[in-house]
Amino acid sequence: MPLPDITKTFNPYFHLTHEHLGRIVSQFRTEFEDGLTHYGKDTAMVPSFVTGVPDGSEKGTFLALDLGGTNLRVCEVTLQGGHKFDIKQQKYKVSDELKKGAARVLFDYIAESVDAFLTDIGSGIANEHEPMHLGFTFSFPVEQTAIDAGKVLTWTKGFAATGAIGNDVVKLLQDSLDRKHIHVKCSALVNDTVGTLLSRSYQSGPALIGAIFGTGTNGAYIDRTRTIQKLGEEKIAGAEALGDHAGKFMVVNTEWGAMDNGRKVLPISIFDNKLDRESINPRKQAFEKLVSGMYLGEISRNILLHLIDSSLLFNGHSTTVLNTHYGYDAAFVSGIEGAESTDAARKIIIQELGIAKEHVSDGCVELVQWACRVVADRACALAACAIVAVILHTGNDKVPEGEKDTGVDVGLDGSVCEFLPHFDDRVRKTLKVLLGEEGEKRVRMGLAKDGSGVGAALCALQAKKAIEASR
Ligand code: BGC
Ligand code: MG
Repeated sequence: MPLPDITKTFNPYFHLTHEHLGRIVSQFRTEFEDGLTHYGKDTAMVPSFVTGVPDGSEKGTFLALDLGGTNLRVCEVTLQGGHKFDIKQQKYKVSDELKKGAARVLFDYIAESVDAFLTDIGSGIANEHEPMHLGFTFSFPVEQTAIDAGKVLTWTKGFAATGAIGNDVVKLLQDSLDRKHIHVKCSALVNDTVGTLLSRSYQSGPALIGAIFGTGTNGAYIDRTRTIQKLGEEKIAGAEALGDHAGKFMVVNTEWGAMDNGRKVLPISIFDNKLDRESINPRKQAFEKLVSGMYLGEISRNILLHLIDSSLLFNGHSTTVLNTHYGYDAAFVSGIEGAESTDAARKIIIQELGIAKEHVSDGCVELVQWACRVVADRACALAACAIVAVILHTGNDKVPEGEKDTGVDVGLDGSVCEFLPHFDDRVRKTLKVLLGEEGEKRVRMGLAKDGSGVGAALCALQAKKAIEASR
């Protein structure tokens, strides 16, 4: 059955032309360069103070905390060397009340979770003379000033705790740990993308990019420390002196989720505008709201409602799920996309949305599949734009003369790359458009699961070594 004409109206927002993709990549590159000069830009380009990437030989046992995905996770990570690790972990629920209450209460809860973990699961190493070192994966924008210090710039992904913005997250956590006499030292502050980059390098060789396509989206990459002008000469020289390899590199956390908050190039449709208007952070995280798992369900819900209101879907009937803000999430989109037949998709629609069977014709199923497909396709195309922009920004689209081509390695983590059907192929389709067939082939992408845990442990190790060296 042909799709109703109304769907064509929305094509420009969901099927992006080569020219449009190119403009998005250019905007990324401009914002990357801009962000490296000063703080206060949309794309924050946060220096991580991580100057070395692991080679897989690292050893030691560390605690890791992961805040900013679906759950709070506490882990004990043992780096075993030989690219291997062992991880013990426990998830703790972060209620909406905690996300939106006082920061002090949130951090006390985190400290209590660490305590519970050490009692129930941890191996007890923290009870010896030396406090146990903890790497804190805090997956929100911060202005990082050292490997173990950084001020919260803004909340994202549905968090809005009061009394955090402008304060040092490590201090907030350490104060809570100390108040409860928990013998743990938070020695590294890590973004999940930085963790993913390190973890990927530890497990499968040097990576250029660590990217998250999960609840939120963001990427970290390796740049020349010199390029990060906003660090200032003193810090650049200091970092260069620390860096343990010749090029003097530092991992930069781009915070690309906020790219184009000026809304110059992104394909923002009425469905996206509605989502943004109704969100707790309007006019923020413009790129993230088109790409990440927190929003994919909601964009599709807005489309379905529009079709219902146009009397083109479900005979104009709606349901409580469909009428509820964030009534369903990205798993619905993945489910529809993965359904192997019209009947399988129909079953999901009836079950998840609560629509009565008699209102779900074959044409309706097709229309729901269309809505999910365009939302997912666009997310994947935009994900590719971000990756390409980093490749171009760092000059990694070319092989330096006389050098061997080692390609470009991208470590990935997050629910969207893990569960959206054919994420990899869909991203590659746009990589091919932007980089050409040869260029696309040079890009290796792979899941670096547990990036937040292993990466935080690797950072804590780096920090611990720096502390020992300065004694
Ligand atoms: C945050 C980033 C984070 C990303 C993925 C975004 O909302 O601003 O810091 O890396 O989500 O978790
Ligand atoms: Mg995560």
